[in-house]
Amino acid sequence: MTTMRRIFRTPAGYVVDADGVYRTLEGDLFGEWHAGAEVPAPTTLLAPVMPSKIVCIGLNYKDHAAEQGKPLPAEPLLFLKPSSAIIAPGEAIVLPAGVGRVDYESEVAVVIGRRATKVSEADALSYVFGLTCMNDVTARDLQKKDGRYTRAKGFDTFAPLGPCIATGLSTDDLAVSGLLNGEVRQQSSTRELIFPVATLIAYISRIMTLLPGDIVSTGTPAGIGPLQAGDEIVVRVQGIGELRNPVRSDS
Ligand code: MG
Repeated sequence: MTTMRRIFRTPAGYVVDADGVYRTLEGDLFGEWHAGAEVPAPTTLLAPVMPSKIVCIGLNYKDHAAEQGKPLPAEPLLFLKPSSAIIAPGEAIVLPAGVGRVDYESEVAVVIGRRATKVSEADALSYVFGLTCMNDVTARDLQKKDGRYTRAKGFDTFAPLGPCIATGLSTDDLAVSGLLNGEVRQQSSTRELIFPVATLIAYISRIMTLLPGDIVSTGTPAGIGPLQAGDEIVVRVQGIGELRNPVRSDS
């Protein structure tokens, strides 16, 4: 098993939290690296990676499928979110004018560590570098109107990512929650995933090659709801931490 570490991306580079001591990361994140000089705990964070693509899974928790009035999918339901939608922890989600309801979706996101093409389910977890939190922000009215996801999921700022990459965690039973203005609105565990992480990676890699740094966001549990300007939304995942973003209107 990989050592449990939390890796933060800062304007000065990557920083590793090893047992509460922060050190610079020297070398290649997805290759050979070692912990360098001790540094203070990072304050300004960037999104932990800039992936070539974000592969999202729709309706991957039974309770969320039920709240959307949709049948359980027989196969993983995939869609892509553009990497241009990514924002850092603390950066504002911007509500576009005139699009109606915009929802938060708290999700556990997988960071791919090495190139994965047609990998078996048995090998799939060896392609995982670590985990992070993602908010799959969704313009719900547009999603229903368009009948496809590109516009509804693709606006700038609709993919908050972070606060770090946690390595060495099992995805069998991680608590995931969403808090709106401090109030818990979503609360579940990755044990409730319809298609677990190994199944997802094997499935996706039969369609498209996953590259180091790519994100697979595993879907959201029940309890989604609308965002308003002035809100603060937090995605919290056990072992990773909190991804906290304010919300503002476009002006
Ligand atoms: Mg989602």
